[in-house]
Amino acid sequence: MSQQPVIAFIGAGNMARAIIGGLLENGFTAANIWAAEPDAERLADLAAQGLKTTTDNQAAVAAADLVVLAVKPQIMRAVANDLATAAQQHQPLFVSIAAGISMEALERWLGGDVALVRCMPNTPSLVQTGASGLFANARVSELQREQATQVLQAVGIALWVQSEAELDAVTAVSGSGPAYYFLMMEAMTAAGVKLGLSEATARELTLQTALGAARMASSSDVDAAELRRRVTSPKGTTEQAILTFQAQGLEATVEKAMTACRDRAVDMA
Ligand code: NAD
Repeated sequence: MSQQPVIAFIGAGNMARAIIGGLLENGFTAANIWAAEPDAERLADLAAQGLKTTTDNQAAVAAADLVVLAVKPQIMRAVANDLATAAQQHQPLFVSIAAGISMEALERWLGGDVALVRCMPNTPSLVQTGASGLFANARVSELQREQATQVLQAVGIALWVQSEAELDAVTAVSGSGPAYYFLMMEAMTAAGVKLGLSEATARELTLQTALGAARMASSSDVDAAELRRRVTSPKGTTEQAILTFQAQGLEATVEKAMTACRDRAVDMA
């Protein structure tokens, strides 16, 4: 990675450690990464990998060009308030990965004028297949945008959106999206069992089919609708299933579910 910024993680839990793992795999220098965290065992693990570690959040902010706020949303206010003086003095870029915390609140808690990116990552980031939406406030420079992109790309894809409201739509698509596919996997496994397969066989076939479909769709130069048409022969078996899904209103259900998800994200922020 060229032009490595010094990055500090405030909170070194599951998400932060997934990103740190991705950065190290992408050739990022461990000594350029700080982890600030109260858990001594977590810090010791990260120190053994060459990171700089501390229990002092302010010290990490003072050392960093880019600060990833990776604590739980419930404690973000207290943590950010405590960083306000260091934020104003050192002016790093802040990248918040906390669900449901608005830019306006974060800016206020960090003491006013700060360069801030709000990011909506998702759980497959934990297996380096994440999808994140990012939104920047007006103080974020072009270089800082690139740096934030590099950080989130360490665990998957990172796409910029044009308004904070779009992050609520990102929540409905990719933020909560993994659970929709898990639900589909549960339903397919259960139906496979009803049709006579063992639970293990139904589950394994379901998971491999999900993986295969995702791989095909992401490596193909045609869209999902065309891939579906290609595997749906007229009067064939797949057509019977697709017609049944459509007759039961699958598309409308998906839209309703995602709208409810988006509305909940708006309420929570
Ligand atoms: P986590 O509980 O694994 O990590 C939080 C870490 O913060 C812990 O290691 C904890 O010891 C540390 N911490 C507690 N108090 C602290 C303090 N005062 N200062 C510094 N560190 C402190 O949580 P996570 O799953 O990694 O989630 C982190 C953030 O990422 C959350 O805001 C969450 O909304 C967001 N997020 C997570 C996921 C996910 O898949 N896990 C997805 C989207 C968004």
